[in-house]
Amino acid sequence: MKETFDIAVFSGDGIGPEITQPTLRILERLATDGEYTLQFKQCPAGAALYAQTGVSLPEASLQAARNADAILLSAMGLPSVRYPDGTEISPQIDLRKKLNLFAGVRPVRIFPGQKIPLNLPPDQQVDFVLIRESTEGLFHTQGCGEVTEDEARETLLITRETSQALFAFAFDLAARRKASGQGPGQVTCVDKANVFRAFAFFRAIFDAEAARHPELQSAHAYVDAMALWFVQKPWAFDVLVTENMFGDILSDLGAGLMGGLGVAPSADIGHDHAVFQPCHGSAPDIAGQGVANPIAMILSAAMMLEWLGQRHGTDRLITDGTRLRLACEATIAKGDVLTGDLGGSARTDDVANAVIEQLAAS
Ligand code: ATP
Repeated sequence: MKETFDIAVFSGDGIGPEITQPTLRILERLATDGEYTLQFKQCPAGAALYAQTGVSLPEASLQAARNADAILLSAMGLPSVRYPDGTEISPQIDLRKKLNLFAGVRPVRIFPGQKIPLNLPPDQQVDFVLIRESTEGLFHTQGCGEVTEDEARETLLITRETSQALFAFAFDLAARRKASGQGPGQVTCVDKANVFRAFAFFRAIFDAEAARHPELQSAHAYVDAMALWFVQKPWAFDVLVTENMFGDILSDLGAGLMGGLGVAPSADIGHDHAVFQPCHGSAPDIAGQGVANPIAMILSAAMMLEWLGQRHGTDRLITDGTRLRLACEATIAKGDVLTGDLGGSARTDDVANAVIEQLAAS
């Protein structure tokens, strides 16, 4: 059985290095106790590197990502550093395309004790996963849209191949959640099929995949209605699957439901590679102060352990991923060591230490 795992680490820009360092500290500790090895390889990339060298994603870093068992990424991009066309440096989006990471997995969980903006009925649990297609959709022409004096055009692309892989991934996840008692086994396709032919095409491919899973439930929703339902009845969903731009917007709404970007993890998964990173950006407004919330990054690392464990049949990694997630949730629920974004005054390292304490007690 495989016991040594190579992890490509992109510490990135802004608060990136500040939240990466404690996350690696926690992972090293788990690995020591669990008798497996995580070998971290630091991969330079991002806006600060681009400002210095004119390269945002060096070939060596891309190659290290390709060779790794998993990729752990914090945040990249700085508003003050831009390509000549005015767009921000975003090697994380380049990685999604180059490594064909078509399934952007954005879990939305609300647990007891979490401070959230909604008043939920006490008997309702919010625990759903938004899957955002991450390689095409409206991001297809990113960086090469046509702009003239009077017009600007970007093209949305939806392919059968990627959509089939995306929907197969969504139904597989729903089946696994159902088997573990985490969800009812329902997949909802979120689109705009009432207006755009491209989304009718997307939905037809979804329906074909749904027909292959009679043991699971399937449903459709329009994206605008889904935005409303995220606020009105977020407990009603299990697995949601959608196009890239719709998913980009809904995933921030999902982070808002959980109490903010500082607690929202994510994964971008393909057939051969996967990147794990918090939903938030590099937060330059608080960078360098040691006050960033590391929870979203630590939760992303927990997703990485679970994914590695499932892929390699290593139960200890799956167990440690779950333990790490529960330790983060317990830290938030306890509420005495929280960063400013969650209403506390703790520093990044205090929160990491609190997570380690919860882990030791688990
Ligand atoms: P991007 O477009 O790169 O995703 P963004 O424009 O959404 O980035 P962020 O960098 O995510 O912006 O920051 C948005 C706000 O959330 C900022 O005020 C930032 O300070 C705050 N924020 C983001 N991440 C964290 C964190 N881990 N801890 C505390 N605050 C955070």
